[in-house]
Amino acid sequence: MRFFEALRPPPLLLGSFLAIMLALGAALSWLGWRLLEQDRSLESQRARERLEYAADRIVAELRGSLSELDDLVSALLAPSAPGFPVPKEPPEDVLLLVAGPQTVQAYPNGRLLYYPILPSPAEPDGRLFRTGEVLEYQQHDPVKAIAVFRRLAGSRDPSVRAGALVRLGRNLRKSGRFREALQVYSEMEKLSSAFVAGLPAELVAREARCSVLEETGQSAELEREARALYTDLQRGRWPLVRSAYEFHSEEARGWLGSASDGSHPLDALALAAAVEWLWGQRLESPSKGRRSMRIHDQPVLIVWASAGERLAAAIAGARYLESLLLEAVKAQGVHLALTDGEGRLLLGQLDDSTGLQVARTAAATKMPWTFHVASGEPGAEESEFAARRRLLLAGFAVMVLLLLAGTYFISRAMMRELAVARLQSDFVAAVSHEFRTPLTAVRQLSELLAKGRVPTEKQRQQSYELLAKESERLQRLVEGLLDFGRMEAGARHYHFEKLDVAELARDLAAQFQENVEPQGYHIEVSLEPDSAVIRGDREALGRAVWNLLDNAVKYSPDCQTVWIDVGRRGERLALHVRDQGLGIPIREQKEIFRKFVRGSSAEAGVVKGTGLGLAMVHEIVRAHGGEIQLQSEAGRGSTFTILLPVESRA
Ligand code: ADP
Repeated sequence: MRFFEALRPPPLLLGSFLAIMLALGAALSWLGWRLLEQDRSLESQRARERLEYAADRIVAELRGSLSELDDLVSALLAPSAPGFPVPKEPPEDVLLLVAGPQTVQAYPNGRLLYYPILPSPAEPDGRLFRTGEVLEYQQHDPVKAIAVFRRLAGSRDPSVRAGALVRLGRNLRKSGRFREALQVYSEMEKLSSAFVAGLPAELVAREARCSVLEETGQSAELEREARALYTDLQRGRWPLVRSAYEFHSEEARGWLGSASDGSHPLDALALAAAVEWLWGQRLESPSKGRRSMRIHDQPVLIVWASAGERLAAAIAGARYLESLLLEAVKAQGVHLALTDGEGRLLLGQLDDSTGLQVARTAAATKMPWTFHVASGEPGAEESEFAARRRLLLAGFAVMVLLLLAGTYFISRAMMRELAVARLQSDFVAAVSHEFRTPLTAVRQLSELLAKGRVPTEKQRQQSYELLAKESERLQRLVEGLLDFGRMEAGARHYHFEKLDVAELARDLAAQFQENVEPQGYHIEVSLEPDSAVIRGDREALGRAVWNLLDNAVKYSPDCQTVWIDVGRRGERLALHVRDQGLGIPIREQKEIFRKFVRGSSAEAGVVKGTGLGLAMVHEIVRAHGGEIQLQSEAGRGSTFTILLPVESRA
C-alpha cells in the first residue's frame, strides 16, 4: 500500500538520527556517571578532612588534659614540697602517689585499696604478755590468763592495750564468755592508731567480733557487721598490703555469704594494681613516663616522674579517662576509641565496619594511646550521598526520557513530512496523468476537425460530442482540484438548502449512467418511498456521490453493475453506493479517507486517480454534520454509506 510504503523513512537518515540521539543519550549518561563519581570522591574527601580535623582537635585536647596530670606529678616531686603537697581539688578518680625507697604515700585517703609496701608498725615487746600466754597455752588456765590480760589492758600505751585486749578476748571466747569477749573487742575497736601483729587493731577487733557473732549464731548482727567491715575494706580504710587486703576481704565476703552483692570495686582494684606495677617497675623504668593499660578490665593511665629516690605519680582510672574522652569528643560528633601500644582496646569501641576511619598513632602523638576516630553517624554521609545520587539519577532519567520522547516525536514528524512529500509527488504524477488523456483526445480531435480530416457530417457530430465530453471531464477534474484546495484552506462555502436526496440520487445516477454507458456499466437505483428531506449543498453532495459512483465503476473491472440506494437508518438518511468490485482490505479502510492516499485496489487494477476523491467525500459529509461508513472485503466489493441528519419528511 502506498501510504504505508510512503511512511517508511529513508533508512540512512533515520539511522543517523537515531545514532546521534543514542550517542547523545550515552554521552549524557556517561557525564552523569562521572559527575556522581566525582561527587562521591569529593564527599568522602570532605568526610576524611572532617575526621582528620576532629582527630587533631581531640589529640590537642587530650594533650592538654595530660599535661595537667604532668603538672600535678611535677608539683609532687618538687623538692621544696614539704611532705605530701596535696592539690586543692584533686581530679576525681585520680590517685596521687609519692614513694621513697621504702615508703608509699597515696592521696586522697582511701583511694588506694592496698599498698605495695608498708612500714612495720611499732608494737610492744612480746615479753609483756608472756606470763598470760604461759597460763593460757601451757597450764591451760584461761581464768588466770584472763586476770593477767585484763590487768595489762589497763595500760596507758594503746599498743599494749590492744595486745592485751586481743589476748583477753581470745581467752574469754575459750571460756565461753562470748558477751564479755564482744565487749572487749568493741573496746579494742576504739584503738585506731594501734597495731596488733602488724595489722590495725580496729580491723583485728572488728573481725574478731564477726567471728564471735558467727560462733554464737547471731546472724543478723553478723551480717550487719560483716557488711560494714567489707565496705570499709573496699574504701581503703586501713593501710594494708595486698595479701592482707585480699584475705580480710574474702573473709568478710565469706560471712556475708549469699547476702554479699558479689561486687568487686574493680576501678579501685585497678588503681591499686597499677600502683603495684609502678612499684615493680620503679628501678627499671625511665625517670619520666606515661603508660596506659587495661587492668581488671579497666583502663588505667599512669603518669610518673622520679627524681633521685623519690617517685611521684598520678594514676587515673576509667571514670576520669571516660570524662576526658567525653569532653574531647563532645563537640566533634565522632566516635573515638583508644588502644594501647600493642593495639589492645582501652576505651571506647573500635568501629570494625568498613566506614571511614582515621588514626593517630602513639608514636606520632607522643601519648600513651593510639587514637581511632570514626564518623559519629557512619551511615549519614552515605545516605546523604545516596539521596543526592537518587536526585541526580532522577534528573538524568527525566532528561533521557525527554530525549527519547523528543526523538520519537521528531522522527514521527519527520516520517510524516516525508510521507506527505512523497504522497504529494505521487499526486502530481497522478494528476498529470489524469490530465494527459482528455487533453490528448481534445488536441487530436480539434486538429482533425481544423484540418478538415473528418469527412462526414455524422463523424463530425460524433467528434464534437467527444470533444464536449472530454472537456467536461477536464472541467470536472479542474473543479474538483480547486474545490479540494478551497476545502483545505477552509474557504469552501456551502449553500445549504432543502434537498430531496432521493431526487438528487436519481438525477446523478442518470447523469452518471450516460457517462459510463459506453463502457457497458449500468447503475441500478433503488429509492425507498419513505425518503426524506435534508439541508445540504446540492453541488457539494452531488460531487461526493459522484466520486463514490466513479470509484465504484473504477474499481469494479469485472462486475458492470453499480447500485445506489437511498433509505432511512433510524433518524438519519442513508445513501449507499455499492459495487461488487475489488473491495478494500480492512487495514486500508481508514487510511483511504486521507488525502493523496491510494489503496492496493488502485495498484492492482492499474487505475488512474489522484487519491483525493474519498478525502473530499469525507470532508463534505463532515460539513453536513453527517458520517461516512465503509463496509468492504477484498475481492468481494464495497459499500460506502453516507449518513446525513434528516430535516423533515419529503
Ligand atoms: P483514487 O480513486 O483517485 O485513487 P480515492 O480517494 O477516490 O482516490 O480513493 C482512495 C483509494 O480507495 C483508491 O485508490 C482505492 O484503492 C480505494 N477505493 C475507493 N473506492 C473503492 C471501491 N469502490 N472499491 C475498491 N477500492 C476503492
